[in-house]
Amino acid sequence: MKLKLLLFVLIASRLTTYAQYDKGMIKQFFDAALTDRTAYENLRVLCKEHKGRITGSPEAEKAVEYTYNLMKEMELDNVFKQSVQVPRWVRGETERAHINSSKYGQTEVPVTALGTSIGTGNEGLLASVIELRSFAEMEKVGEASIKGKIVFFNEPMDPTLINTFAAYGAVGAYRTTGAARAAKYGAVGVVVRSLTTALDDYPHTGVMHYDQEVKKIPAVAISTNGADILHKLLQDDPELKFYFRTTCQNLPDVVSHNVIGELRGSEYPDEIITVGGHLDAWETGEGAHDDGVGCMQSIEVLRLFKQLGIHPKRTIRAVMFMDEEIAQSGGKVYANEADEKGEQHYFALEADRGALVPRGFGVSGPEERVENILALKKYFEPYGISEFKRGGGGVDISPLQRFGTPLSSCIPDDQRYFDFHHSGSDTFEQVNFREFQMGSAAIASFIYLIDKYDL
Ligand SMILES: [Zn+2]
Repeated sequence: MKLKLLLFVLIASRLTTYAQYDKGMIKQFFDAALTDRTAYENLRVLCKEHKGRITGSPEAEKAVEYTYNLMKEMELDNVFKQSVQVPRWVRGETERAHINSSKYGQTEVPVTALGTSIGTGNEGLLASVIELRSFAEMEKVGEASIKGKIVFFNEPMDPTLINTFAAYGAVGAYRTTGAARAAKYGAVGVVVRSLTTALDDYPHTGVMHYDQEVKKIPAVAISTNGADILHKLLQDDPELKFYFRTTCQNLPDVVSHNVIGELRGSEYPDEIITVGGHLDAWETGEGAHDDGVGCMQSIEVLRLFKQLGIHPKRTIRAVMFMDEEIAQSGGKVYANEADEKGEQHYFALEADRGALVPRGFGVSGPEERVENILALKKYFEPYGISEFKRGGGGVDISPLQRFGTPLSSCIPDDQRYFDFHHSGSDTFEQVNFREFQMGSAAIASFIYLIDKYDL
């Protein structure tokens, strides 16, 4: 315990000694980021020329080539791809849906197929609807009320939760497992209220999972406005019917890639610091906040180090993970290859929470290291970045946990993130240059300090 205390005092005093110098360096990171449009322009190209880059698609492979070439042109020390076997799900034709009421006639509503859902077939699906607010309610009403019907899960995200990720997590299961569970009661299809607190006409997609033991039924998300209309009409006309048509299908797996660019470490080149986002994105939008920004901020970290002439002690890798949205196979392959090659993973950060104003960082891992890393807060407070807390990471870097690597995530403001998430409104225009680059500078500074002080 005494030795730990001594070490802590030593680290603390070193931090004080260098504090002035480091404050200057951090200012340089922010100055450089806020006066250079390279990353923002690259994000624009990724969003506009490589939208539709859902896992396994030809567009995803073009995005692989694009980011590979981008990093090649930066003259990094090493740029390479990792082969990843990924699922291939195709959306097919634009989805159509309407409410058929003998009282109110036909009302069109916006829907989107959920990722990995089967399609309805050419004819579409027409059935009565039962509206449910929870799985408990489903159990209560039972098979007699559900058999042969479309189950409409209409539980909204809780608007009173300040942490919108918690609100999302609380109702996520209706999207991911609603179809599998409703099928057990004889449902013929599922309509899920979009996971957003916004009220608009964009349906929000996302992955779902079938239970292999149960009949597969098609599932869609309906926009929040559409859900409110359906709810209202059902009050008046419980006999109404809902129609939707989807032609999505699951095809055999294909080979895709993670893309990795490296700046080699000057002192400990075998120790790796990973900073990454995911390159795949739902094709409903452009994959701007989710997660073009994380990819481009990761590459920007390397560009900032180069521009400022900083030689990191450890190897810093920008990683574009593939297939975060469906099966997370890119993250798994990355960690498995690290295992096979005996790589040492010193630290990892995932940027996959959008690029609104950066608020702080979350870190998990060995307690001593987490404590030292969280003590960096004081350097960031002048930039309005002060939420340094325990708990961090993300699905792409979580397999690195097996190496005892501290895992981190940057935390941007999340009040508006789910307005865009997985929907047609996740476009480049929704990303503000300053907010995006404040995030890039914060991540680069964070990694700079962790590497410099062996945190
Ligand atoms: Zn994401």
